[in-house]
Amino acid sequence: MTDTDRQTAKQNLLNLTRQGLEEWFADQGEKPFRARQVFQWMYQRGVDDFDAMTDLAKSLRAKLKLTAVIQPPEILSDHTASDGTRKWLLKVPGGSAIETVFIPETKRGTLCVSSQVGCSLNCTFCSTARQGYNRNLSVAEIIGQVWIANKLISEAAGDEMFTPHVTNVVMMGMGEPLMNFDNVVDAMDLMLDDLSYGLSRRRVTLSTSGVVPQIDRLREVSPVSLAVSLHAPDDKLRNQLVPINAKYPIAELLDACKRYVAGHPRKRITFEYVMIHGVNDTLEHAKQLEKVLHTVPAKVNLIPFNPFPGSDFRRSSNNAVYRFRDYLLSKNLMTTIRKTRGDDIDAACGQLAGQVQDRTRRSLKAVEA
Ligand code: SAH
Repeated sequence: MTDTDRQTAKQNLLNLTRQGLEEWFADQGEKPFRARQVFQWMYQRGVDDFDAMTDLAKSLRAKLKLTAVIQPPEILSDHTASDGTRKWLLKVPGGSAIETVFIPETKRGTLCVSSQVGCSLNCTFCSTARQGYNRNLSVAEIIGQVWIANKLISEAAGDEMFTPHVTNVVMMGMGEPLMNFDNVVDAMDLMLDDLSYGLSRRRVTLSTSGVVPQIDRLREVSPVSLAVSLHAPDDKLRNQLVPINAKYPIAELLDACKRYVAGHPRKRITFEYVMIHGVNDTLEHAKQLEKVLHTVPAKVNLIPFNPFPGSDFRRSSNNAVYRFRDYLLSKNLMTTIRKTRGDDIDAACGQLAGQVQDRTRRSLKAVEA
């Protein structure tokens, strides 16, 4: 066996949930509490070297070195924007790269995590869509983004002991998380686990373009918060902006949203609404939107459109954004405007492109068109 073969034959422990890790340890003839020790070293201390796990017997450490690795994606680049937003380009096997963005604020640090290499949906205003689609990310590649961010930010902050600075996670990076359901749910379980980062369900948000059956599945298995990329108040316009709407129209989507919050009175769905000049940003659209959301426990997050090369859309004027917000507020619909962060390093919403080896040839079609 070559070194590479040995490497690939090893189990990457970042691919396993806590239960999965306990089962894997059992298969190796080891006790579950040993798995929990390793788990805490990995996530609560940011350790990837078995030799550093000093409360494990030397013999167990030696065995783990032969059978396992703790291997997040490799960092290809690391940029910090003028506002402190930090973006990593991470290599994933298969010749592609994905992006992860950390957004520091006074009292919290939000990590925007990718779920797929590219995206198979074709939203017309999104730069990731232009890149085409390659594949789903593994659990290790998803939780690995949080692992890397926590480790590097803790190091940059000069913490004496490893401290996780990621307090909030939004599944709003590249990809449609509900199209990679099992791996995304496992990775979110890892984020919530008390022996890992222990994030509260309110601080982990999954954003979807509206894959209705998977919203129902998510409700069954996960307590996380839900955001929905709505972007238009009627089906005709939404079909153009978010093509999956043709399959799951607004009425069906909102029914699924109501089911998601039913029985959880304090939960609200966040509706994301990208503000595109002359497309969906008039007072008339705001009125329609308010009517459509009337019966859903909702809050609206307006996202001023972020431009990217090759896009014909323009950002709404500040006045249009404020007018839209003020109307919704006047109807008692909770509404916020998302602050644009990191746009000088192309880290803002809809600007994440990575490097996708497109298997759908969509990126080629976009150039030809
Ligand atoms: N596929 C999921 C996760 C991506 S989240 C989803 O659609 O929800 C990324 C968010 O940024 C989505 O709300 C998306 O619609 C929005 N977005 C995409 N392109 C954008 C752009 N150019 N400017 C502003 N927001 C954009």
